[in-house]
Amino acid sequence: MSVLIVGSTALDSIKTPNAENPRLLGGSASHAAVAASFFAPVKLVGVVGEDFPKKYITLYKKHRIDLGGLQIQPGKTFHWSGEYEVNMNNRRTLLTELGVFEKFTPHLPNAYKQSAFVLLANIAPALQHHVLDQMTKPKFTVADTMDLWLNIAMDDLQRLIKRVDGFVLNDSEAHQLTKEDNVFAAMRKIHKMGPKYVIIKKGSHGSILSSPKGFFICPAYPLHKVVDPTGAGDSFVGGMMGYLSTAKGGIDANIRRAMIYGSVAASFCCEGFGLNRTTKATRAHIEQRVKELGLLTKF
Ligand code: AMP
Repeated sequence: MSVLIVGSTALDSIKTPNAENPRLLGGSASHAAVAASFFAPVKLVGVVGEDFPKKYITLYKKHRIDLGGLQIQPGKTFHWSGEYEVNMNNRRTLLTELGVFEKFTPHLPNAYKQSAFVLLANIAPALQHHVLDQMTKPKFTVADTMDLWLNIAMDDLQRLIKRVDGFVLNDSEAHQLTKEDNVFAAMRKIHKMGPKYVIIKKGSHGSILSSPKGFFICPAYPLHKVVDPTGAGDSFVGGMMGYLSTAKGGIDANIRRAMIYGSVAASFCCEGFGLNRTTKATRAHIEQRVKELGLLTKF
């Protein structure tokens, strides 16, 4: 089975205390698609401008990502720039140039409409709705978001939360959405908004799932050095959806293990700028870290 992923397809200019890297391949959909591609065929929905480097198209293709839903429009590719503090957790957005995203309407090729697994990666909730509207009967839909949409598109976002099976957000966004300081109380409130599966990401402290089968605490893979955490959350949810789409059995039987695979995908993302490290990983590297996480959490 394949995973349909919609989200931002971007050029990222990233500054850390140690280095600066302009115009890397980025965007929520790019990170999620590459992470998912280790497990399953991926169908990408997004838009880039005519300035989008050919080498990035080649990179998508190397990961066997179906680009039938990637529009190339006259104009500039979405460009995002961010700067990290010394702790590599706090980040400040320096620039957001929407470019061709400003007028983007996702049109799904017919072959995409029957995808069973749908990841609505971070992008304006109105566009996430537009993709869902075109789907025939997806088996499992998950949406991710960011603080910007909580600030400027809360109504669209709340309608979206009602429509999806799973909702993924980080702890500060969960607080913003529910006004709850306690993460478990926040999850309970989010369930009441609709989704059966709620996942709260806690950066280098891992993530927590609340599901019909109860809670699951998923660790982050212990890294001694973080080079660039941009896209870690997208890699997490992309890896999780990729694994889930190929696992035998239902969602409840597989979602915990799928989160572990997502966590491992995110760890590779953090070890290099942009997608530099993730694209060098192999399934064997992933399996090795999954095994290590198993040993680390066994008691
Ligand atoms: P994360 O580190 O998980 O927050 O994801 C970072 C990615 O989100 C970068 O690759 C950016 O290109 C992308 N991004 C930043 N701002 C936006 C936005 N307003 N809409 C969609 N994607 C964005």
